[in-house]
Amino acid sequence: MFRSNTCGELRLSDAGKKVTLAGWVQRARKMGGMTFVDVRDRYGITQVVFNNEVDADLCERANHLGREFVVQIEGTVSERSNKNKNIPTGEIEIIASGLNVLNTSDVPPFTIEDDTDGGDDIRMKYRYLDLRRQAVRKNLELRHKMTMEVRRYLDSKGFLEIETPMLVGSTPEGARDFVVPSRMNHGQFYALPQSPQTLKQLLMVSGMDRYFQIVKCFRDEDLRADRQPEFTQIDCEMSFVEQDDIISLFEGMAIHLFKELRGVDLPAPFIRMPWIEAMTKYGSDKPDLRFGMQFVEIDDIMKGHGFSVFDNAAYIGGICAKGAASYTRKQLDQLTEFVKRPQIGAKGMVYARVEADGTVKSSVDKFYTQETLRAMANKFNAEPGDLILILSGDDAMKTRKQLCELRLEMGNRLGLRDKNQFACLWVVDFPMFEWSDEEQRLMAMHHPFTHPKDEDIPLLDTDPAAVRADAYDMVINGVEVGGGSIRIHDSGLQAKMFEILGFTPEKAQEQFGFLMNAFKFGAPPHGGLAYGLDRWVSLFAGLDSIRDCIAFPKNNSGRDVMLDAPAPLDQKQLDELSIAIVESDKQ
Ligand code: ASP
Repeated sequence: MFRSNTCGELRLSDAGKKVTLAGWVQRARKMGGMTFVDVRDRYGITQVVFNNEVDADLCERANHLGREFVVQIEGTVSERSNKNKNIPTGEIEIIASGLNVLNTSDVPPFTIEDDTDGGDDIRMKYRYLDLRRQAVRKNLELRHKMTMEVRRYLDSKGFLEIETPMLVGSTPEGARDFVVPSRMNHGQFYALPQSPQTLKQLLMVSGMDRYFQIVKCFRDEDLRADRQPEFTQIDCEMSFVEQDDIISLFEGMAIHLFKELRGVDLPAPFIRMPWIEAMTKYGSDKPDLRFGMQFVEIDDIMKGHGFSVFDNAAYIGGICAKGAASYTRKQLDQLTEFVKRPQIGAKGMVYARVEADGTVKSSVDKFYTQETLRAMANKFNAEPGDLILILSGDDAMKTRKQLCELRLEMGNRLGLRDKNQFACLWVVDFPMFEWSDEEQRLMAMHHPFTHPKDEDIPLLDTDPAAVRADAYDMVINGVEVGGGSIRIHDSGLQAKMFEILGFTPEKAQEQFGFLMNAFKFGAPPHGGLAYGLDRWVSLFAGLDSIRDCIAFPKNNSGRDVMLDAPAPLDQKQLDELSIAIVESDKQ
């Protein structure tokens, strides 16, 4: 028997037992005639004691153990005199009678403990060592539990887990594809799927009725904290359903996951907020509803008083931060700097404080009477002690998005975004299309397979920008954790959609002919959704970045620094693929 127990298992009730453990040396320290060794494995840490007086030879060997040596230890479980309340095995230690060094280790480049001295880069380079740290490992354990629960829930609802291919064709909508050259098909390329969208729809045409897959998706986009070039979706599709059926089934899944993994009972049903309301009240299609601070529009009150910034604005709106009237000049300046950062792009910020006696003092006092300022403050329901922050601009949506950043910043500053509190909602009634300045055409806001709302279908011909979609996102704490839609299942309507998106009939046929043809063979009404697994796990684990719940993530430049990928191919491989590299100044 290699080991009788794990390093996280033994308790006081095991005292007297002869055991064999195996694991890594986290730390070894010599104190007088004793040598103490902490042995670690996935399950925990157990203290092992070598006594010079009992077996000098064995103790001498223990003195030569280095960090991360792999050892097998025989010994007897014994009550510890100096108990460690911080670890579950802290009441016992193993009095060693045997030591077998299974492998040595170089000195690790950082300490493998919860509080490590290793920076990000070095930990990513030696990710296999980083994963030995409990803090990182427990995120992977949570991820495992989550996928088990997802499978259990969906299986109980009759879903079949079906794999779809990783080598597919390139789809022009959405993000950029990662492409893979085909040796056997000269000059041709596969693409890695951005999502199995069309394939899961084809499975509905096949009559599979309820499909899911926990699946890798690939998108060649610029990276952020909550984005990786490859990420995992819980991808689902159902036939013979309406939006409500999908929403309630997947709301049920969210409730199940919260209960099983966090022990949290979520209040149901979740709020369903139309997209336009989310944008108007919070300036975002993923509002963080852990706190209020809804936007208040004050154009009507503030215009026409000679303050040209407001007089010329298309939108004037603000938020009321409860109890923040004590903000100092310096703090207000910091906020102004914050909204003026290029990523946010506001020109400036106006503030107004409600003093203890109800007087309103603002940064634009010289343009407004006290009466006007009070009317403005009343519109916010502001009370003495409150601070009103106002932005304006010539593009209402842009200004709302800036105000959204300010609201989130104030939420952070005032401690209103507690990671242990969860505010879930569905954002519904998304617009079907959004205008792309870059492409100078309408783009599908969700994707081109999304069904327009029945009542808006006539607008497709007259005012496509006004068409709303049967699309929905689930948002938790300001993070979009999933989304989906009812799909088009009619080949004529699908063709029309491609036409509005600027595809010629030939191009649409070339790229999506397989789908439109399939729709001619009895496609059932269907719809679905995908949850972002990485985002769910990081939400449950309270992480700031999804990287921490991925075993081997990429860095911000899309590199795997451990594998040193991507990397050039050797000439032989390039020749086989008939690929020539053109040198350019692009790095
Ligand atoms: N395929 C969509 C996505 O990846 C989700 C869905 O519509 O089911 O965002």
